[in-house]
Amino acid sequence: DRKDALPGARPVRAPRGSELTTLGWQQEGALRMLMNNLDPEVAEHPDSLVVYGGTGRAARSWEAFDAMVRTLKTLRDDETMLVQSGKPVGVLRTSEWAPRVLLANSNLVGDWANWEEFRRLEALGLTMYGQMTAGSWIYIGTQGILQGTYETFGAIARKRFHGTLAGTITLTAGLGGMGGAQPLAITMNEGVALCVDCDETRIDRRIKTRYLDVKAENLDEALRVAVEARDARRPLSIGVHGNAAEIFPDLLVREAPIDIVTDQTSAHDPLAYLPVGIDFAEMKSRAAADPKRFTDEARESMAQHVEAMVGFLDRGAEVFDYGNSIRDEARKGGYKRAFDFPGFVPAYIRPLFEEGLGPFRWAALSGDPKDIEATDRAILELFPNNEHLRRWITMAGEKVAFEGLPARICWLGYGERHRAGLKFNEMVASGELSAPLAIGRDHLDSGSVASPYRETESMLDGSDAIADWPLLNALVNTASGASWVSIHHGGGVGMGRSIHAGQVCIADGTELAARKLEAVLTNDPGMGVIRHVDAGYEHAREVAAERGIRIPMSEA
Ligand code: NAD
Repeated sequence: DRKDALPGARPVRAPRGSELTTLGWQQEGALRMLMNNLDPEVAEHPDSLVVYGGTGRAARSWEAFDAMVRTLKTLRDDETMLVQSGKPVGVLRTSEWAPRVLLANSNLVGDWANWEEFRRLEALGLTMYGQMTAGSWIYIGTQGILQGTYETFGAIARKRFHGTLAGTITLTAGLGGMGGAQPLAITMNEGVALCVDCDETRIDRRIKTRYLDVKAENLDEALRVAVEARDARRPLSIGVHGNAAEIFPDLLVREAPIDIVTDQTSAHDPLAYLPVGIDFAEMKSRAAADPKRFTDEARESMAQHVEAMVGFLDRGAEVFDYGNSIRDEARKGGYKRAFDFPGFVPAYIRPLFEEGLGPFRWAALSGDPKDIEATDRAILELFPNNEHLRRWITMAGEKVAFEGLPARICWLGYGERHRAGLKFNEMVASGELSAPLAIGRDHLDSGSVASPYRETESMLDGSDAIADWPLLNALVNTASGASWVSIHHGGGVGMGRSIHAGQVCIADGTELAARKLEAVLTNDPGMGVIRHVDAGYEHAREVAAERGIRIPMSEA
């Protein structure tokens, strides 16, 4: 990555152990998680501060990174550091209940909220793309997305294939920070995965971290091996080097027996999607030299790519958009049937969101994998009747290689998350864990995002683009005592298409942390239930009634 390196680039690794390098664990948690986001084991391109998702950054510049580290080291328990798109801009006296850090990343006023204007401002050094968990310091490597991807493919298995993907082949592309979870999520559901990426180093990296099983020499070999494994009902994931916009149509012409098709290239950002006819090695320079032309070419290629996906749909395959906006980019590239297949949220995930279920996660600030083993056991003890959760935690313990600080993710809902948080806090207090935990979540959650092509696509009441919800979510988490809270724009699906919020809490074993954890981890997923009640979802209404969430408009 040296050629993309920003001035001041150097390897970063979070401190480990139970000694503070700051004035308190809330600050220490923020410091370690910021550094962990940029750990070369975690970040996709650490030298350029890119954590994942195209250009999702943790800090605007290395100078800004240094200033944030310096500030966190002296920040007191009643002070709050303000971060504006990856740069610290002020420190204010607040209170011990207030977050230690408040962040706003990539936000632009509506009419200006497009990539062109964003890049102009970025080039002036005025902003940074924060993606979701990159700029809010709770990215935990590819495992973070693995659970969501596992859930999605599990839901497809239940919907179409009698509960298992055994005997099926899934075709997908993109083996980056998020997309790299696909092969393992598919084999965990017992299926065969054919995964295309135009950057061979991404294929090798996924093999190294055991997310991907093998690399094929060429498409013929990939297809042969896939069919063999499928016929033996043997789970297998195969990486294929090439451009998806060429390989997908090629496979369609060959009448490849594909059962499920999706895609996780960085389509949300046309400058991060390789157009047909351009060598991967030249991608960055070509994009920089003429962004407008590159964008047009990328969209044209995405149109071909999506046309092939619709071709598989016409042949009866299960086809879905995996939250990267490729349908809209293909539409802009001139392809009319791009929206013939659905997004994965309305297709599979919304029923989970209705009960506040979403990607709960935690990282061991000690750096000790034993702390995560202990929390895994605690989760299984807390929720003994949840078989699905047991299967995940057990498999994750066996198959997931940690990247950076050891971490775990599992989907928990309203009424569950605070129980886990309080239990973890007790384990810190008792010394069962060797240091505090950072407990947070993705912004892709039940009540924290407005994103009409993804999380809020096809809401029952048509409220897809209403962005009051993530803003209320950030306010609620700030009021409830989270350790840091963030409001972002454009994550996942790109500029102009989403507004979302994040929160992270530090469980440091204190009584104060317990009170904050109880409030945040109840209210945060509670917002998800409320949002879905308001949109008219019956199941959300039942959950609210059962679990005692007050809904003023339903009170006579
Ligand atoms: P990334 O930038 O780390 O990886 C993208 C990969 O796509 C790269 O390895 C790149 O080489 C490859 N690629 C680009 N053009 C290609 C082409 N034409 N053919 C083949 N490969 C190509 O991004 P990521 O973090 O993996 O995210 C991927 C996408 O998924 C983004 O658009 C992101 O916003 C979206 N996303 C989805 C979810 C979800 O829950 N479904 C969550 C987060 C992000």
